[in-house]
Amino acid sequence: MKAPLIGITTFRRIKEGQVTQHAISEMYVQAVVRAGGVPVLIPVELKQAEAEVLTARLDGLLLSGGGDIHPERYGGKPHPKVGSVDDDRDELEINLVQLAVEAGLPFLGICRGIQVINVALGGTLYQDIATQCEHPIRHAYYPDWPRDLRAHGMKAEPDSQLAKIAGSTAFEVNSLHHQGLRDIGDGLRAAAWAPDGLVEAVELVGHPFGIGVQWHPECILDAPESVALFAAFVQATGTSSQPPLFCSLIAK
Ligand code: MN
Repeated sequence: MKAPLIGITTFRRIKEGQVTQHAISEMYVQAVVRAGGVPVLIPVELKQAEAEVLTARLDGLLLSGGGDIHPERYGGKPHPKVGSVDDDRDELEINLVQLAVEAGLPFLGICRGIQVINVALGGTLYQDIATQCEHPIRHAYYPDWPRDLRAHGMKAEPDSQLAKIAGSTAFEVNSLHHQGLRDIGDGLRAAAWAPDGLVEAVELVGHPFGIGVQWHPECILDAPESVALFAAFVQATGTSSQPPLFCSLIAK
């Protein structure tokens, strides 16, 4: 079996007087493994040339969650609520999305990941939903709520790739974000919405698999939509000769 290599972006934990650490939640890693992929963690420091070398060898790219993108990346002036910005991470992940788009490499963006996809393709963000959107529902269920809390409903476009993968157009999702998509980037279509009208998923039209979701499917692996999303992502890499291990493993 030639198992697909799935790159997963990481973040840096920088503390004064301590060695900087690269980190990512084990949930992303487990979700990829259970879907039949082999995770490859991508350090933040990679430059353009190295990102090109890496994407040429990867079979898929998973853009993980994390801190906010610097607003200057999409022409915004920093809002007081913007936090945990890492310019190097922004630079790398925007590069990776553009490389994946050019190469037809399957990619999945989660939370910050959908925002990176949107900004990389010329879109913009609400820097803080609670203060910049009209009549928003609560989306920021962190850090004091369970990560698998079903925070709000979501409606998907019936003809979207997402709805076909999920086998449903309406389901409950978790919500651990304070930012959201404003103007949608070039080539993307909105595929799902929260009850307040906020875009919760996008798809890159004509790409083999280019999906971003604003929720965290890796934290709700007991939901069939989450299982199906990771399975479809890994299968879209076209190198997996075995069915995903996902369903049997999470049943334990
Ligand atoms: Mn939400």
